[in-house]
Amino acid sequence: MGEATGFLKWDRETPTRRAVPVRLKDWKEVYDDFPEDHLRTQAGRCMDCGIPFCNNGCPLGNLIPDWNDFVYREHWRDAIDRLHAANRPVCSASTATP
Ligand code: SF4
Repeated sequence: MGEATGFLKWDRETPTRRAVPVRLKDWKEVYDDFPEDHLRTQAGRCMDCGIPFCNNGCPLGNLIPDWNDFVYREHWRDAIDRLHAANRPVCSASTATP
């Protein structure tokens, strides 16, 4: 688990979306870049709750609490390995089901 009191310490934050008229001109990501330090604190908000509905809710079966913990601790290699363990085509799938 990232940080036991992370959800109290850091407010929820999501990446901003690029404006629709801009997005209509290309096939780039919907969201603007999200700074790495913000990614880490958001991952640190995970409580690793007893019955993580995120695991059941993820259509790919990703182990989201584990992934959050790796991101929070900057274990990027472990994080991507964990994603690939559940689903190889992570890039296209995560774009289809953000
Ligand atoms: S639902 Fe998943 S991501 Fe959310 S706090 Fe529980 S384990 Fe963490």
